[in-house]
Amino acid sequence: MTKLKAVLFDLDNTLVDFMRMKKLAVEVAVEHMMNAGLPGEKQTLIDEIFKIYRRTHIESQSALEELIITKLGYLDYKILSSGIIGYQRGRDLATYPYPKVIPTLKELLKMGLKIGTVSDAPAEQCYNRLARLHLLDWMDVVITYNDTGEYKPSPKPFLLALERLSLQPKEVLYVGDWPERDIVGAKTVGMWTVFARWGEHPDAKDTGADFDLTSVEQVVDIVKRVNG
Ligand SMILES: [Mg+2]
Repeated sequence: MTKLKAVLFDLDNTLVDFMRMKKLAVEVAVEHMMNAGLPGEKQTLIDEIFKIYRRTHIESQSALEELIITKLGYLDYKILSSGIIGYQRGRDLATYPYPKVIPTLKELLKMGLKIGTVSDAPAEQCYNRLARLHLLDWMDVVITYNDTGEYKPSPKPFLLALERLSLQPKEVLYVGDWPERDIVGAKTVGMWTVFARWGEHPDAKDTGADFDLTSVEQVVDIVKRVNG
């Protein structure tokens, strides 16, 4: 049987607790903007920012700006710059890998496997998060939205990862937390799949994945099992 030679991971809510990061970043941003004079009640302002994210994109870079203009009728740069500083402070505090991610990746590298990420995040944010997690140098391949212009479950990002690694689909295990995007996409190209139940969809049913794991360290056992 073909042996696994690489493990590829979804980034957000698989390696890093993205929603936790986002929540803290927005909360600290709102506190800083209120200190700088933004009127309103804290939780309402937080909810309004998330509404903007839902309407536009979770990676929107103009949500704070939009909120200020909605509240004041103009863009107050004192409030905006305070909000950006607050956002970055919250983000830096809360961007770290899930428990056991680091030892798991180390173990996979020690076993001689290649590792990488196939993410729907824009390149700038994806590389920024990987750098802040100190994972960038470990990655043999990083595929972002910018590489193909298509989101998972499109086969394109997965196929590009295979091409860059010069590997066959059955030599790759893909780990992700979103069944309709991660599992469907990786399966379509023929990779082995792991559903990351520790991510954003812990209650997902019928994920269709080959393996269903509750902790990232179990990935090592799966590799050992498949490779015999
Ligand atoms: Mg995810």
